[in-house]
Amino acid sequence: MQVLLVEDQESETLLIKRLLAHSPHTQFVVDHAVSLGDAIVMMSEVEYDVCILDLGLPDGQGIDSLHQVRAIDARLPIVVLTGNDDESLGILAIETGAQDFMAKDNVSALLLTRSLRYAMARQKKMLGYASDANTDVLTGMPNRRQLDKRFSELIDTTEQLCVALLDIDHFKTINDRHGHLVGDQVLRHLADVIRNSTDSHVQAARFGGEEFALLLPETSCDSACEIIETLLADIASSSLVIEGTPLTVTASAGVSQVKKTETLEDILRRTDVALYDAKRAGRNCYTRVDVSDTE
Ligand code: GH3
Ligand code: MG
Ligand code: MG
Ligand code: MG
Repeated sequence: MQVLLVEDQESETLLIKRLLAHSPHTQFVVDHAVSLGDAIVMMSEVEYDVCILDLGLPDGQGIDSLHQVRAIDARLPIVVLTGNDDESLGILAIETGAQDFMAKDNVSALLLTRSLRYAMARQKKMLGYASDANTDVLTGMPNRRQLDKRFSELIDTTEQLCVALLDIDHFKTINDRHGHLVGDQVLRHLADVIRNSTDSHVQAARFGGEEFALLLPETSCDSACEIIETLLADIASSSLVIEGTPLTVTASAGVSQVKKTETLEDILRRTDVALYDAKRAGRNCYTRVDVSDTE
C-alpha cells in the first residue's frame, strides 16, 4: 500500500514511519514529502493509496493544505495529523473532506493502521456512491445530473460549445413489436454506438427515456453537425440482431450552438425544437440552430 506522508518535522516523520513499519497485517510503502509543494509534485508522479497530512507545514497552514491536496486529487483518502489539543481542527478537516484525523501524540501502530484502512474503505464506498449517482444504470452512460454538472463546467471554460439532442425514431413501435426488454437492449446498443462513434472530447449522456444529449466543447456548429451526421449514419448502419433477425434503428437529432448567457434549460428547449423539426422532416436526420438564428 503506497502511503504519501506529508510532514515537515523529522522526529514525527521517523515516528510515523516506524509505526507503519510495525503495522500488523499490512505492508505500507511510505514516500515522504517535507512540504506541500513537494507533495503536489509527488502526487503528479505516483497514484497513492492514502495520504497522511500534517496540518502545520512550512508552505501550507491548517485546512488550506487539505484544500490544496483535495484540489489536486479528489479521490485520494486523507488522514490528517493534528496537535494533541486540536480536536476542533480535526473535526473541521473531516467536514472539509478528510477521511479521518489523528492527534500526533496519541498514535500507535494499531490505531494508525486502522485509521488508514478505514479511510481507504470509506473513500472507496463514497466514490462508488458518487459514481452511481452520476451514471445511468441501463446504459452505463453519464446521466442527466452529470450532464448538468459538465455543462456548468464547460460553459465557463470553453470558447465554443455545441449541444445535440438525439432521439430514437419510432422507439415505441420497437417496444410494442419486440417487447420492453428488447427496447432496453436497443438503448444499450445506441449507447455503445455513441461511445464508439464519437471522440473522447464529446460528452454524451442519457438524457431521458430514449433521448441522448451530447456536449461538444471547442466545436463549431459546422463541425458539430458533421459529427452528428456521422453518428446518425453509424447508428443507421450499425448491426443489431434481435432473435436472429437484423433490426434497423435510426435516430434524429437537433444541434445547437450555445450562447454564453444561456442556461442549459434554454439551450435544451431550443435544441428540442430543432429535434422536432428533424422528426417532421422525415427522421434519420438532424436540424441545426445557430446562435445568429436566435438573436
Ligand atoms: P419518434 O420517432 O417521434 O421519436 O417516436 P417514438 O415512438 O420514438 O416516440 P415516443 O415518445 O412516442 O416513444 C418513446 C418511447 O420510449 C415510449 C416509452 O415507453 C419508451 N421508453 C422510455 N424509456 C424507456 C426505457 O428505459 N426502456 C424501454 N424499453 N422503453 C423506454
Ligand atoms: Mg509540521
Ligand atoms: Mg422522445
Ligand atoms: Mg423517439
